[in-house]
Amino acid sequence: MNYYNLKNKEEVVDFKTATIKGQGKEKGLFFPEIVPQFNEDFISNLQHLTDGEIAFQCMKDFVGDTIPEEELKEIISETISFDIPLKKINDQIYVLELFHGPTLAFKDIGAKFMSRCLSYFLKNKNKKVTVLVATSGDTGGAVANGFYKAQGIDVVILYPKNRVSFVQEKQLTTLGENIYALEVNGSFDDCQNLVKQAFSDEEINTQLFLTSANSINVARWLPQQIYYLLALKQWQKNENKNPVICVPSGNFGNICAGLLAHFRGLPAEHFIAACNENDVFPNYLKTQKINTQKTVATLSNAMDVGNPSNFVRILELFENQFDAVKDKISGYSVDDEKTLETIKNVYSKYNYILDPHTAVAFASLEKYLTEYPDKKGFILGTAHPVKFPDPVEKATQITVEIPDSLQDLIKREKKTVEINSDFEELRRFLLNKN
Ligand SMILES: *Cc1c(COP(=O)(O)O)cnc(C)c1O
Repeated sequence: MNYYNLKNKEEVVDFKTATIKGQGKEKGLFFPEIVPQFNEDFISNLQHLTDGEIAFQCMKDFVGDTIPEEELKEIISETISFDIPLKKINDQIYVLELFHGPTLAFKDIGAKFMSRCLSYFLKNKNKKVTVLVATSGDTGGAVANGFYKAQGIDVVILYPKNRVSFVQEKQLTTLGENIYALEVNGSFDDCQNLVKQAFSDEEINTQLFLTSANSINVARWLPQQIYYLLALKQWQKNENKNPVICVPSGNFGNICAGLLAHFRGLPAEHFIAACNENDVFPNYLKTQKINTQKTVATLSNAMDVGNPSNFVRILELFENQFDAVKDKISGYSVDDEKTLETIKNVYSKYNYILDPHTAVAFASLEKYLTEYPDKKGFILGTAHPVKFPDPVEKATQITVEIPDSLQDLIKREKKTVEINSDFEELRRFLLNKN
């Protein structure tokens, strides 16, 4: 399987090169040349397969011969090393809990898969690689954890000062070793712009070997398909209608992976892009116009994205057919007030605690179901509520206990370098870090 650059279709690379480079010329995203179809038997037989077998079938065509089968199986077993249960909330809504990994967010899955692939590709090379990543909150922790002490790899994380939660900040600033955290006076979009500039800076790229770990990297994006299959496996035990799948969305990597799985044959009635007040996509569905916006800060800060990078992949998947996009995906924008109200109601009605991101999805699916009352579906639970204690406590009046697994972490000391949203400052840091 090869990948082409969405900005320059002449540039075609294999999985290894796409993983190492992160993005192509002119900052274009890589996209698979073919959408390999799932065998029908595979889909109807999910319940009789192990999670590891499902994940392997899901990924093998994308990796091709760049990683031997046994090695890929090993990478997969390290990636899916925790439970991903589909829990029933009420008659129509289930939640796929993706937050039982090391940093309590779904990004652990993509970050781990990518770090293991990259380490495999760099083994026995004496080249040192710098992974440069912008985070609105959760990516940083997941990448820091996934790459911690990875040989030959330095990680530099940019995050917007005062816009990530206490636990998130601890997760990305306290590891040390090969992990560097830069605290940027600015928004997530500023961080992302700095990262993009670094990738096109000649001096930096001759001195350092840079790569990305944002969801633009295919090795982070593609493994996210796996848990849509794992959800379906559990769904089929209880339900016979196809599910509506509702995804809390920011950069749109997660939902785009689900859509890719759907194009390969994963049954799904419909998709919902659940957004906070950063509503570029819901607006696009209304107006057919892509108006990127300045980021609005919200309670679901990992979704505070004014210019979603994976949007171009969605358009490519649908061959730029607006009507097809509109038929398959609905978009909702949920404000902070509604988010809090949803956390409160779901807690009092079902005794279930939602984090703000998952709450945006719950509110969106609920809204959709008022229009289509005979449908059912699941939402993706993208983070554990303890990562966002303030809004959750405000809404439910209960204290979210910090799990034992985090007690150690919160005692650790934060180590960061503060920079302004100024490319010169980032350049200086990168050229002098070692
Ligand atoms: C990153 C993140 C999202 C958004 O995922 P995208 O792939 O960027 O759309 C949603 N919820 C949480 C908790 C996240 O960390």
